[in-house]
Amino acid sequence: MPELPDVEIFKRYLDATSLHQRIIGVDVRSAYVLKSVSARELARRLKGRCFKSSRRHGKHLFVRADGDLWLRLHFGMTGSLQYFKREEQAPKYVRVLFVFANNHRLAFEDQRKFGEIGLIEDVSEYLKKRALGRDALDIDLSQFRAIFRKHGGAVKTILLNQKLIAGIGNIYADEILFRARIHPATQVSALKQKTVAKIFRAARDVLKKAIEAKADMDRIPKSWLLPHRGKGGKCPRCGRELKSATIGGRTAWFCAHCQKRI
Ligand SMILES: [Zn+2]
Repeated sequence: MPELPDVEIFKRYLDATSLHQRIIGVDVRSAYVLKSVSARELARRLKGRCFKSSRRHGKHLFVRADGDLWLRLHFGMTGSLQYFKREEQAPKYVRVLFVFANNHRLAFEDQRKFGEIGLIEDVSEYLKKRALGRDALDIDLSQFRAIFRKHGGAVKTILLNQKLIAGIGNIYADEILFRARIHPATQVSALKQKTVAKIFRAARDVLKKAIEAKADMDRIPKSWLLPHRGKGGKCPRCGRELKSATIGGRTAWFCAHCQKRI
């Protein structure tokens, strides 16, 4: 499921391929992913414009078209972007295709169709309406501390709550807590200031390094939890078998030896 690092990589990919080219057509192959906009309206409003810039917030990507119109993308469970020229290069599950004047296309691919595409006029207003928290790479330590002071529950649940901190999903929440050596079910009220700061630093470091690795599983260091996550996986630190538990409705993977429950 695309999380902050994946969406940041999609942003960079889109910036490198799809800006400043006139859009000559929008081909909607599955209107299911469209939110608050019809296929016809999406095509009508984008045709003749260019994408000018993009902005990421948490797991959301916003692409500005000239005339101050924003395309809103959310990648759901399996969404991604693919830029290509020839039809045979098209990915398998194209839901929406943006066709440019140079005959190249940008596909929004999404096998499971949990992704979303919409049009909005104002990004700040949209973020406010959705009550999204600050971006996980934009938040500072005092804001991070305030969130942990004001909210209760398991530490992992706090990290996953997009209304508090935007961008961290199931996989990276586990990685951050593995890095900070905190058991995911630890109650926030039991955490010392020092430990909250440790989680903050782990979050920044994990997200930044994942972006540097292009969110590519093959480039993620073997010392991370991620490559070992899953049944039979061993802790890269102590070699013991990893454990799993359902926390906040999601499966958490952790090392019961390295990550102490406070
Ligand atoms: Zn361990």
